Amino acid sequence: MKLVVTGGAGYVGSVCAARLVESGHDVVVVDDLSTGHADAVPDGCTFVEGELTEVVGPLLADGVDGVLHFAAKSLVGESMEDPHKYWQGNVVTSLRLLEAMREHRVARLVFSSTAATYGEPDSGSITENAPTRPSNTYGATKLAIDHAIASYATAYGLGGVSLRYFNVAGAHGPFGERHTTETHLIPLVLQVAFGQREHIRIFGEDWPTRDGTCVRDYIHVTDLADAHLLALENAVPGAHRVYNLGNGTGFSVREVIDACRRITGHAIPASVAQRRPGDPAELVASSAAARTDLGWQPRRTGLDEIVSDAWEFARRQHGQ
Ligand code: UDP
Repeated sequence: MKLVVTGGAGYVGSVCAARLVESGHDVVVVDDLSTGHADAVPDGCTFVEGELTEVVGPLLADGVDGVLHFAAKSLVGESMEDPHKYWQGNVVTSLRLLEAMREHRVARLVFSSTAATYGEPDSGSITENAPTRPSNTYGATKLAIDHAIASYATAYGLGGVSLRYFNVAGAHGPFGERHTTETHLIPLVLQVAFGQREHIRIFGEDWPTRDGTCVRDYIHVTDLADAHLLALENAVPGAHRVYNLGNGTGFSVREVIDACRRITGHAIPASVAQRRPGDPAELVASSAAARTDLGWQPRRTGLDEIVSDAWEFARRQHGQ
């Protein structure tokens, strides 16, 4: 297929673009490099640097089979401080993309949605039927786009799939997580191993979980990319499907830190800090629907495997 990948110079976008190229697709990456990196765009892709709404029309006019839409603002804290940036950058931009897709009759869209659309759900594994009550602007903007895709599917025949990721982690060879503002647990812990920070702060150890620290569902980015390929192939004209993507197993913050100690051989000092506002105690996905409908099977589900791929990637970045 001829495909456009928005945000293909970012973490998940670059891994998905790499998997699409590996699978024989013809891929054009569009990225404004506001948070992505030009050298993250995989070999074999055509790279168009520019603001999505400006470049997408001419690109789609060329005849495209599908779009995978990753380009987005994705910092939760920032989304609360500067919501305009998120409504504009995520929702308005996505609506322009949808319009361009309608105009040029692009049949398939796979959208990078998020577990943040569920907010702080009740405990237990989270299915797609869980109420969507986002607790931050980032999640609200992603949910608004999900709704827009649903109505474009119903009214205009788009085949749309929203994939709601839980905690994406790990790396796919040379493609991995490189944020200027890093907020995610695994890369932060690895920064301690590199001496870039003195210790990792654990946000609360009095949560109602097995060791008192928050439990999250870490999904390997390669497994996530595989789900995108399947979603693309299985998109049905006129339908909007939503799938949660996670490992199905939760790991606590302490378990993640211990895995990082094992893999890096570094002591990784940790201290206990205040709970972070808006953090639920436990977030674990039910990916039963993705497994049944798409035939998706996550293969890299062990925490040590996820951490060692992230570690290999980080070492590469440090020239080791
Ligand atoms: N966390 C932590 N210390 C940090 C960063 C994160 O204890 O410096 C915890 C956070 O409270 C959450 C888990 O690690 O329980 C994963 O956080 P992350 O920001 O990676 O992803 P989120 O679950 O918020 O999407």
